[in-house]
Amino acid sequence: MIIVMQQGASDAEVANVVQQVEATGFRPFINPGVERKVIALLGEVDIDKVQLVDRFSTFSGVERVQLISEPYKLASRHSHPDPLRFELGLHPDATRVTIGGSELVVMAGPCSVESEAQVVGVAHAVKAAGATLLRGGAFKPRSSPHSFQGMGLDGLKLLATARAATGLPVVTEIMDPHDLDEICRYADVIQIGARNMQNFSLLRYVGETRVPVLLKRGPGAKVSDFLLAAEYVLAGGNHRVILCERGIITFEDSTRYTTDINAIPVLKRQTHLPVVLDPSHATGDSAYVPSVAMAAVAGGADGLIIEVHPDPSKALSDGKQSLKPDQFSVLMDKLRRLAPVVDRELQAPAASLA
Ligand code: PEP
Ligand code: MN
Repeated sequence: MIIVMQQGASDAEVANVVQQVEATGFRPFINPGVERKVIALLGEVDIDKVQLVDRFSTFSGVERVQLISEPYKLASRHSHPDPLRFELGLHPDATRVTIGGSELVVMAGPCSVESEAQVVGVAHAVKAAGATLLRGGAFKPRSSPHSFQGMGLDGLKLLATARAATGLPVVTEIMDPHDLDEICRYADVIQIGARNMQNFSLLRYVGETRVPVLLKRGPGAKVSDFLLAAEYVLAGGNHRVILCERGIITFEDSTRYTTDINAIPVLKRQTHLPVVLDPSHATGDSAYVPSVAMAAVAGGADGLIIEVHPDPSKALSDGKQSLKPDQFSVLMDKLRRLAPVVDRELQAPAASLA
């Protein structure tokens, strides 16, 4: 951390800052500077540096205070130089999948679980195309309280039925900490949706579990906010966090959100956590999903999460952005050919493995 003094700050003001720095346990190093003095804080002290920034900013003669190292320690690459790999699919019925390695992980399925026929049918279809996890919302965050809110517990049970039928581990969203026990019983991966990225109490509850987490970026969140949200989960001792870029709000309105493709290499540099992209929510239009999915893989993503519905025109949520199973299969074939260009691979479709 450095404290930049104002031009013309008095000796007494500098002395006061130096004294307070020493009182916190750091060693102050004063760079005299031609125009203004800069005081660097040296040493390791177990203290909340963000709070310290605020405190020193109020001191007389101080122009600004800057953190040099990131405030997210646990999510930072500095503390974990190697990319993190971990297994998904804790449930006995699930076929385990590793994320963060050379194999791309594709999660696919409906926005919402709607019926047994829908979710089991889609699970078989996406598995045959090469997906290795099934997505599906049972608790849905909808903009309007009058829209379909999800099937709740019954939806979780149907996801379990689909997992038993296909072996695909299940990723599903939590909205309310009261549902945590039920969701942990059924989910292989707990999704924290974009709207809840900064629901800090929910992050803490999920951090206390040992179920892998798919954390989606808030549409108005900076990468640093995103990593601090992940830090909440990691701080609870749950180290298995997957970061999901799903589009941010910009002035552009030709698509639902704007895919921040930059965030993929940025995140890969800042953190050891696996990074996936959701081209369905990022674009809001199935016509653009394949292009953006391929851009993400080319950009170094560890995987994708894609909405697939047997009949998007009848979907109870997000039909416009959902691929039909045959469109998904075409995309997977393209991804299979693209992946080796970036030293990755996609598993062969399950049907051809049999
Ligand atoms: C979803 O995955 O269906 C969803 C609601 O996503 P997001 O939180 O990114 O909007
Ligand atoms: Mn959706």
